[in-house]
Amino acid sequence: MDIADLSARITGGDRRALARAITLIESTRADQRGQAAALMEALKSAGREAIRIGLSGTPGVGKSTFIENFGLMLTGQGLRVAVLAVDPSSARSGGSILGDKTRMERLSRDARAFIRPSPSQTHLGGVARRTREAVALCEAAGFDVVLIETVGVGQSETVVAEMSDLFVLLLAPAGGDELQGVKRGIMEMADLILVNKADGDLKPAATRTCSDYAGALRLLRRRPQDPEGFPKAMTVSALHDDGLVRAWAEMTALVAWRREQGHFAARRAEQARYWFAEEVRHGLLARLDTPAARALMQDHAARVAAGDVTPAVAAAEVLARIGE
Ligand code: GDP
Repeated sequence: MDIADLSARITGGDRRALARAITLIESTRADQRGQAAALMEALKSAGREAIRIGLSGTPGVGKSTFIENFGLMLTGQGLRVAVLAVDPSSARSGGSILGDKTRMERLSRDARAFIRPSPSQTHLGGVARRTREAVALCEAAGFDVVLIETVGVGQSETVVAEMSDLFVLLLAPAGGDELQGVKRGIMEMADLILVNKADGDLKPAATRTCSDYAGALRLLRRRPQDPEGFPKAMTVSALHDDGLVRAWAEMTALVAWRREQGHFAARRAEQARYWFAEEVRHGLLARLDTPAARALMQDHAARVAAGDVTPAVAAAEVLARIGE
C-alpha cells in the first residue's frame, strides 16, 4: 500500500480512502500495523483540529436518535461530522450494542457525514486504541466535529473521555426522584448532561431529573478547566429536535473558553501522554503473547510450582529474555 498516496487522499477529503485507512489501523497483522503507524505519522502534521465530543448513555436513552438529529443539524450548517463508536460488547462477545446498520439512516446518507461502527477487537483496550487513531484520521480528513459514542456500561466512558475534548452524558427522565444510579466517577467526567425525551408526558419528569442533576453537579468540586456554570445539565428532545441548537451553543462556548485559557491544548497534550503510555504497556504485554514467550512462561511456571525457583527470580528471568 502506498502510504503517501493514501495520506494525500485522506487530507483531500476522500471518504473511501478514510474508510480504507481505518480498516488498515484496525488490522492486527504485523506488516499492516507497521503501515498504520507510518500513516499516522504522515498525517500528524495535517494541522487540522476537529471538536471531539464523547457521548455516553445507556441503551435506549436515545443516543442514535440524538446523534442523527444533532449530526443533521450540524451538517445543515455546512459542518462535516464523523461518528465513531467504542462498543465494549464487541470486545466481549463479537456482538455489539452499537453496531446496528439501520441506525442513523438519514445521517449515513448525508454527504457531509461519515459513520463508522466500533472496531471488533478482543479487548476494550484494543477497541479504544484503534478508535483513538480513527479519531485522528477523521480530524486529518477535515471533519469539523467527531462524535465518539459509547454505552454507559463498564470502563468505556473513561477511554472515550481520554480521546475527547468534551464529554456529554445523555440521560433519560427518571421515574421517581432518585438519581439514576449514575456513578460519581462518570458524573465527574461530564461537561454537559443532557436529559433526553423532554417531550409529551415525559417532559415534567425530564425537567425534574434535570434539576436533580444540576443540583448534584453543583456539589462537585470545581475543575480548573470549567468556566462559570459548567458542568451543566439541560433538557433536550432528540426525537423532536428540541434543544439541540442550544446544546451545540453550550458546547462551542465551552470549547472556545477552553481554547482561550489553554485548557484545550493542555488536555490534548495530557491525552497524548496517556496514549503513549498505553501503547508502551500494550507493547510489553504483546511480547508475552508469542509462542516462544508462552513456552518460556510455561516452563518457568512449572519450575516455580515444583519449588525449584522463587516466583520473583523466575519472573526476572522471563522479563530479561522477552526484553531481548
Ligand atoms: P440508543 O439505544 O441510546 O441509541 O437509543 P435510540 O436512539 O435507539 O432510542 C431508543 C428509543 O427512545 C427509541 O424508541 C426512540 O424513538 C426513543 N427516543 C429517542 N429520543 C427520544 C426523545 O427525545 N423523546 C422520546 N419521546 N423518545 C425518544
